[in-house]
Amino acid sequence: MGKVAYIVLLSAAFVLIGAAGCQESVGREGGSQPVEEWKIHDPDRPLPQVVDPGPASGPVPAPADAIVLFDDKGLSLWEDNKGQPARWKVENGYMEVVKKAGSIRTKQKFGDCQLHLEWAAPLPATGEGQERGNSGVFLMDKYEVQVLDCYDNTTYADGMTAAIYGQYPPLVNACRPPGEWQTYDIVFRRPRFDLAGKLMSPARMTVFHNGVLVHDNAELTGPTEHKKRPPYTVHPDKLPVSLQDHGNPLRFRNIWLRELE
Ligand code: MG
Repeated sequence: MGKVAYIVLLSAAFVLIGAAGCQESVGREGGSQPVEEWKIHDPDRPLPQVVDPGPASGPVPAPADAIVLFDDKGLSLWEDNKGQPARWKVENGYMEVVKKAGSIRTKQKFGDCQLHLEWAAPLPATGEGQERGNSGVFLMDKYEVQVLDCYDNTTYADGMTAAIYGQYPPLVNACRPPGEWQTYDIVFRRPRFDLAGKLMSPARMTVFHNGVLVHDNAELTGPTEHKKRPPYTVHPDKLPVSLQDHGNPLRFRNIWLRELE
């Protein structure tokens, strides 16, 4: 083999190895730790670095093609998980979880989407770990991005603020203090099933917390649940977005969504 051909071959090999390496770090791992290496809610899983996201701002305006799911005009687009009117409190431009009123969901159903929402954890902060400012936003009523107050509060990594619950800790902890408004911007791709109900491609999420990237195209292992990672089961292409009543008076405002296809 000539010297030039050898160098060309060697370079091609390096490019291939490099590409494979890149793919590995943005695939299943979502740029984070491979989910299979950790037990669910593993207390030894490392907590991400704390990053100050900068100060809160006013509500982020909805783009022209967005569906506004909640501004300050009440809960007419929401219902509880029995299909009855949502009984959360609405005041001063936000909705607030009412303990035991149950989780609420949108009446409209969605698949692939870009979702923006703003939330604030209770002030003063009470409780520790999972008991401090717990709620959650569920895409398709099944795939949860955790809402929790992890400003000066620690819990298991895969259940902290902005974790894809039970699967992926956020890449960084970008929490603002309790009482301050925080943002989630979520790009969600639903799972795809074939006609026989077999999984063709998993759900994926890219998430920004207070403008900071916390999930980079993370590939979900299935629905998110407490203490287990169940496999996918076939479900409709569109399902509601839901917000969790975990007994803590979380506030939400300015929720809008753009459908993607
Ligand atoms: Mg939760």
